[in-house]
Amino acid sequence: MRKKVVAGNWKCNTTVAEGVELAKAVNELVAKEGAEDVVVVLGTPFTHITSVVDAVDNGRIGVASQNCAAEPKGAFTGEVSAAMVKSTGAGYVILGHSERREYYGETSETLNKKLALALENGLTPIYCCGEALEIREAGTQKEFVINQLEETIFQLSVEDFKKIVIAYEPIWAIGTGKTATTGQAQEMHKDIRDAIAAKFGAEVADETSILYGGSCNARNASDLFSNPDVDGGLIGGASLKAPDFLAIINAY
Ligand code: PEP
Repeated sequence: MRKKVVAGNWKCNTTVAEGVELAKAVNELVAKEGAEDVVVVLGTPFTHITSVVDAVDNGRIGVASQNCAAEPKGAFTGEVSAAMVKSTGAGYVILGHSERREYYGETSETLNKKLALALENGLTPIYCCGEALEIREAGTQKEFVINQLEETIFQLSVEDFKKIVIAYEPIWAIGTGKTATTGQAQEMHKDIRDAIAAKFGAEVADETSILYGGSCNARNASDLFSNPDVDGGLIGGASLKAPDFLAIINAY
C-alpha cells in the first residue's frame, strides 16, 4: 500500500525562531489530531533543520531540506551537500522544484547529480515535476512531464526509484491561488503512474506516492485527495499556518 504524504515547503520564509514555533505548533496538532496514516514532512530552510528536528517528534514528523548541492563536497562556496543535510537529522530533500529550475537554472543533468548524492546519503528525494502555463495551453503537458521524468528519475535503478516520492506541481498553480481541477490533477497523476508502470512495472507504479502541489489549501485538499492517483500534497503557502496544514493532513 503506497504511503499518503503531506509535505510542507516553507521556501524562503520564517526566521529560525519563527520556524521552530511553527514546527512545534504542527507537532502538537499532529500529535493530538493528525491522521495517523499520513506521513508528515516539513521542508524548512537549511538554517532551520537542526532546530526543527529537535523541536518535533522524529518518529511522527519528517524534516526535508529544499535542495542539496550537486557535488559531494569541496570548494563550492555557499552550497550545502547531501551529506551535510543528512547529518542534521533530515530524512528528505525536495529536488527539482520549479522555482529552482527557473531561477537557479537547474537542469536534468544537475538534478541527476543531486538525486544520486541524496540517495547515496540515505535521503528520500521528493522529486518535483510540472509544466508551465504555455505548455498546458498547448496541450502538451503529458509529454513534457513524462520527459522530465525520463531524463531524471527514470534513469535510476528500480531499487533507487522505489525510494522516490514524486510531486506533480503545475507551475501555473504554484503560489497563484489557481489550483488544478481534480480532473486535471487525476489525469496527470494517472499518466505519471502509467509511465512508471511501463518503465518499472505495475507493482512499482502502485507503490509510488505521487503528491499534488499548487495552491493546495485547507478548502480544496479533500477534493484533490479524493482522486485515486493523488497520494497527498506538497504544500507551499498553506504550510506556514499550523491549523491549515493540519486540515490538509486530515483532508483524506
Ligand atoms: C510549492 O511551492 O511547492 C507549492 C505548492 O506552493 P503553493 O502551495 O504556495 O502553491
